[in-house]
Amino acid sequence: MFSSTKQKAYFCRMKTIDQINFEGKKALVRVDFNVPLDENLEITDDTRICAALPTIKKILDDGGAVILMSHLGRPKKGPEDKFSLKHIVNHLSDKLGCPVKYVNDCIGDEVTSEADKLKSGDVLLLENLRFYDEEKAGDKTFAEKLSKLADIYVNDAFGTAHRAHASTAVIADFVGNNKCFGYVMANEINNLEKVVNEGERPITAIMGGAKVSSKITIITKLMDKVDKIIIGGGMSYTFAKAMGGNVGASLVENDKLDLALSLIAEAKEKGVELLIPVDSLNADAFSNDANTSVSDIDKVEEGWMGLDISDKTKSIYREAILSSKTILWNGPMGVFEMDKFAEGTKFVANAIADATAQGSFSLVGGGDSVAAVKKFNMQDKVSYVSTGGGAMLEYLEGKELPGVKAINN
Ligand code: AMP
Repeated sequence: MFSSTKQKAYFCRMKTIDQINFEGKKALVRVDFNVPLDENLEITDDTRICAALPTIKKILDDGGAVILMSHLGRPKKGPEDKFSLKHIVNHLSDKLGCPVKYVNDCIGDEVTSEADKLKSGDVLLLENLRFYDEEKAGDKTFAEKLSKLADIYVNDAFGTAHRAHASTAVIADFVGNNKCFGYVMANEINNLEKVVNEGERPITAIMGGAKVSSKITIITKLMDKVDKIIIGGGMSYTFAKAMGGNVGASLVENDKLDLALSLIAEAKEKGVELLIPVDSLNADAFSNDANTSVSDIDKVEEGWMGLDISDKTKSIYREAILSSKTILWNGPMGVFEMDKFAEGTKFVANAIADATAQGSFSLVGGGDSVAAVKKFNMQDKVSYVSTGGGAMLEYLEGKELPGVKAINN
């Protein structure tokens, strides 16, 4: 299970749910139930609910009671029906196979009384934490009130672990040692460690997506950790233009040309192989019905835009991926939402799947690459799909996430 003693040491230091027997105890679990709802307030993707089930079941199986707290959406000021967690009660109950009680607040007398009544095997869901501004503000009094509801605090919300909110970090100040990570958190940390600190070399990071500006910090940080960085997606054209190429009407951040050059220079200095696409699948409009043509990436015709990588790049990237022992993938290679420009992303996903089948460790993370992996139905062909988004990127940047620190300290 562990790729090295150092990783094993880290994992053992983590206080996880497995080290606690919850018999006769109440656990207050911070979950991430921020699921998408349609206009009829039906759940359209229950991945996050399903992810939390093992943690909830472990506590119930031990003979404990569970109090669940989460945020949902972005309420502006106070309660809003469309962001109420009551909309997920029935689905959660179906998934757990037991009734779920619900209380329409997360602090206050009614909540305290419902929490007090809980018996072994009971599950209580609290209302949206973000109906209180105090949650995002990391308010101590609010955090303390939450902490009083149970005997043990469990953090299982990796998606918000990079935020120092009341329920994700500040609460830990009021629970002494009665705190631990749930399975989602423990798995995320364990798998991210396999890339950042324990990756078997060669390590390759594949960075795609729209803009280089949103990936600068991560690319710079990764230069100290990885052997190869593969660039794809819209940001390729900023690199190509910076190197003197003609990129037509492709997406370019003209104010980031110097930055692109400095990243190229830094990679050279640090001995990191920085791979930039050599060719491009171009379109005469940003549409799946557009006419297409292929060119070298530095020879995109006037008025045409590059929307995907093409064959020469694909084969270079495949070789780089197959010769890697550890692979991190964040961001698509092209506009994969349109079938005509999804091939490059699909090809790279397949190469990662093949490398994984040969024994390499692959981690996919960040909204759009996860969406791509799902679109191509490849979740089971990579080693790990991180649910983290922003939290994952910050972890990879080497930051200590407040939600992780709160449990570790
Ligand atoms: P990000 O959120 O930065 O990871 O960017 C993901 C978005 O980048 C997706 O919606 C893609 O459609 C888009 N994208 C990828 N390649 C290109 C490209 N060549 N031109 C414009 N947008 C792109």
